[in-house]
Amino acid sequence: MSEKKDATRIVQAGRRDEWTQGVVNPPVWRASTILYDSVAELRARGAADTHHKLFYGRRGTPTQWSLADALTELEPGAEATLLYPSGVAAIASALLAILEPGDQLLLTDSAYDPTRNLANGLLKRFGITTTFYDPLIGAGIAELCTERTKAIFMESPGSLTFEVQDIPAIVAVAKARGITTLLDNTWATPLLLPAIGMGVDYSILACTKYIVGHSDVMLGSVTAAEGQYQRLRAATYQLGQTASPDDAWLGARGLRTMAVRLDQHGRSALKIAEWLEDRPEVARVLHPALPDCPGHMIFARDFRGASGLFSFVLNGGGEAARAALIDGLAHFGIGYSWGGFESLAIPVDPQLHRTATKWEAEGPVVRLQIGLEDCDDLIADLEAGLARFAEVRG
Ligand SMILES: *Cc1c(COP(=O)(O)O)cnc(C)c1O
Repeated sequence: MSEKKDATRIVQAGRRDEWTQGVVNPPVWRASTILYDSVAELRARGAADTHHKLFYGRRGTPTQWSLADALTELEPGAEATLLYPSGVAAIASALLAILEPGDQLLLTDSAYDPTRNLANGLLKRFGITTTFYDPLIGAGIAELCTERTKAIFMESPGSLTFEVQDIPAIVAVAKARGITTLLDNTWATPLLLPAIGMGVDYSILACTKYIVGHSDVMLGSVTAAEGQYQRLRAATYQLGQTASPDDAWLGARGLRTMAVRLDQHGRSALKIAEWLEDRPEVARVLHPALPDCPGHMIFARDFRGASGLFSFVLNGGGEAARAALIDGLAHFGIGYSWGGFESLAIPVDPQLHRTATKWEAEGPVVRLQIGLEDCDDLIADLEAGLARFAEVRG
């Protein structure tokens, strides 16, 4: 038989018989205490490797292992996955597993703001210095590497401005110097970018977004490449990080439909992005599948498709004109996060989160998460919004 395709894998992954006992969806195993038959058994279990063995609730139950295993299966070349109570907890745990005082971290200037805050806050306090780099730096990152550089953190595309990073070029520089690479792969998920197979050491997801897919659970994951898992596990246990079985169960439930959801999010988002491109009120659309998005050639080379999140730059106008657009939308909620079934619109201000590069644009920026509503309804809503924008802008 040929190698399983992703859509098949995502339906079957992690559903081990001993965890499901015959039901289709692995049930919720809630536990803190695990009981042993004897003192000898209790001691033996503690001394052995507890991976996928009931030991104590913090180390998980089949519910968490099932989702973790499924995510590992989606990343060819991966050793194992751990779950966290949020995407930010996953990012923090992975970085704390790798870095120590005196080390230098290279962090993309396009990173999610809380990732920057971690670098400028806790990591700095622990004596770890961060150098921010241009997301389009590619192989040029070699010039920033010093003897103290221990980790390079990427986010591709950046979740506000959507620059696509040259992951293979950066990985090659890192591997030649023994530097660990991490990727926030939340936008693409392993379905659109199997990062571990591209040589990335740690592929991180805010499962809160597309894995869960229903805007009702906080969850994160780190998938480690072969040989990179043990130090992640040690740090994660020391930090006491664990995701609840109920949340993992909802994550696994969401995962089963992710391939079809992503496909629809991607198609609708591209159609809307192309429509926006032709509008006079819009200066630029920041969507990696469009030819003028920074890094588009790399996107076309490395990604298997686009998901449903992108931004656009308005043609002139200020805060009031942008708010007029967003406030009156009927089908887009105003709120953080993305990856759920419903559409969202927020104002974003990239200039506030940049230090290595400068953000210059023709007007304010709006970020859209395109949900599963009818695309024509969303376009009509945006059309009315752009008219409100133009009226206030003058
Ligand atoms: C939302 C998000 C995170 C953090 O995930 P939480 O589950 O909200 O902590 C990390 N990276 C990116 C790109 C995100 O959009």
